[in-house]
Amino acid sequence: MRLSVQHRIWGMVGLFAISLLLTGTLYVASERQSLLSEKKLKTRQLVELAVSNISHFHDLSVSGQMSEAEAKAAALQSIRAMRYGSTEYFWIQDAHAPYMVMHATQPKLDGQRVDIPQMPNVSAVQYGPEANAPLTASDGRTTLVIATNQLANTAGSGFVTYEWPHITPSGPTLERYPKLSFVEKFEPWDWVVGTGIFIDDIDTSLKEKAISYLGLLAIIGGSLALVATLLANSVVRPLRQATARLQTMSDNPSLLAPLPTGRDDEIGALIAGYNQLQAALRQREEGRRLAASVFDNAQEGIIITNAAGRIIQVNPAFCRLTGYSEAELIGEDPAVLTAGNTAQESLGELQAALGDGKAWQGELTSKHKDGSEFIERAYFTPVLSQDGKGSHFIGVIQDITIQKALASQLEQEAHHDYLTGLANRRHFISQAELEITRARRYNYRISVAMLDLDHFKAVNDSYGHEVGDQLLRHFGTTCVELLRDSDLIGRVGGEEFAISFPHMSAAEALEAVERLREKVASIEISGPGNCIIHFTVSIGIAELSATDRNIDELLGRADHALYEAKHSGRNRSAVAVRDPVGEN
Ligand code: GH3
Ligand code: MG
Ligand code: MG
Repeated sequence: MRLSVQHRIWGMVGLFAISLLLTGTLYVASERQSLLSEKKLKTRQLVELAVSNISHFHDLSVSGQMSEAEAKAAALQSIRAMRYGSTEYFWIQDAHAPYMVMHATQPKLDGQRVDIPQMPNVSAVQYGPEANAPLTASDGRTTLVIATNQLANTAGSGFVTYEWPHITPSGPTLERYPKLSFVEKFEPWDWVVGTGIFIDDIDTSLKEKAISYLGLLAIIGGSLALVATLLANSVVRPLRQATARLQTMSDNPSLLAPLPTGRDDEIGALIAGYNQLQAALRQREEGRRLAASVFDNAQEGIIITNAAGRIIQVNPAFCRLTGYSEAELIGEDPAVLTAGNTAQESLGELQAALGDGKAWQGELTSKHKDGSEFIERAYFTPVLSQDGKGSHFIGVIQDITIQKALASQLEQEAHHDYLTGLANRRHFISQAELEITRARRYNYRISVAMLDLDHFKAVNDSYGHEVGDQLLRHFGTTCVELLRDSDLIGRVGGEEFAISFPHMSAAEALEAVERLREKVASIEISGPGNCIIHFTVSIGIAELSATDRNIDELLGRADHALYEAKHSGRNRSAVAVRDPVGEN
């Protein structure tokens, strides 16, 4: 059973009041019992006194100082005169017949039958003289004389209660009042001696006590009720108000607001604690919302897998990047996205790092839903559980296909000549330099050639720059076609080209360039107005020698040979003289 605090407080007050009432009742009952015992003791002592008095006269008759009739008359005389209090007296009745022997205040009853209707019936009886023993309620039909004779003849003595009028100076009252009497049998003369005492004063005094106790109880109860009301108001009312507000807030979360405080007590502390908790939860909620909006709005694709490597969450950017919907990806293995040509070692590295609880970053080639490939920069990190194992894995990916393409285009532009697509001067020099280093380390020959188109200025001047460009491109293509893949060809000036021939002596290089020169001489290019243009090239060759300190010196010697070729008439090749080193 659930009881509200208010009901509990009232319940406690009620219980307390009931216990006070019970205590009072028990007190009254025990007080009544002890007062009654006092009265019983008093009547018994009086009867015992009377009996000892009678016994005295009996003794006189037994000893012969008096006749029995004289002794009885003296005894009756003496008992009739015994009074106590203002109204109490003794009577003596015959133990075997319902006759009054002597009645102290109503002498007309002496010798009369007293089982008459005017005599009251007894309400309770007690056999024996025990003052503390309880009286037993009688059937209410036995008259006083009969009942007392029964007591005297069976137990020797006993108590009875009944109702009797008060005797006032103007005679007995009409109203009757509770009275207690003790009777004792005087065996030798078959007399039953009795006296009674009114006990209505017990109830009167008890009633007064009970009334004042009830008054006290009312004051205590009233105070308790007041305290209970105050307590209920100060505890229950603020709690109910707070609960009602909380209910409203939970029905409509947009109304969420701190509860009003302003109390210094425990309830104030409870409300302040609730407000603090609410603020903390709100802050956490905002953090979560922010994180969710970062997740949803990030430009990078974000993927979360569980420990088993199954996708459990992807963000919209991830779906955009891969072309798959969220529903298509949830529960899948991210491997569906990795295209065939992702380097196996990258995937291995990735798995090993995550297996060790470490992060990994690198580039992966992935497959879009439509089958097209894209290059992604990926950053994978495990979310570690307490045992140090990855409970989840978070991947952030960025499509870098375009950047990669741009980068390779930039690299192409930085290293190559825009017109012919051949290596530019800088790239040629650096590559040739590397080749020289290799040749020296592995001890093989290397030769270079410098080539310059003859009278090219005249071509430009006669046919225009466009035709000049066309001719340059044609020359470049011819070089690529005629030479080996390992030969490095570069356009090192306006109409100047350079070639490096690894593993070739000057004589072998000469053979190669002669073939090229002859081919060039045979080329016919159609110019404006259907004219045919021929062009030629002069070539200088030098083979790497021990004295060449770098590519510049080697190219310088080839250039010198070129100069000689030009000088001796153009459209020819010349070899720089100097003892070659390397292969023999
Ligand atoms: P030589 O036989 O002595 O080499 O005579 P040449 O006219 O070829 O030599 P010169 O150095 O006098 O002229 C080179 C010309 O090459 C000058 C320039 O107009 C031309 N030229 C340089 N770069 C380009 C280019 O990119 N395109 C075109 N069409 N012409 C170029
Ligand atoms: Mg030139
Ligand atoms: Mg020239």
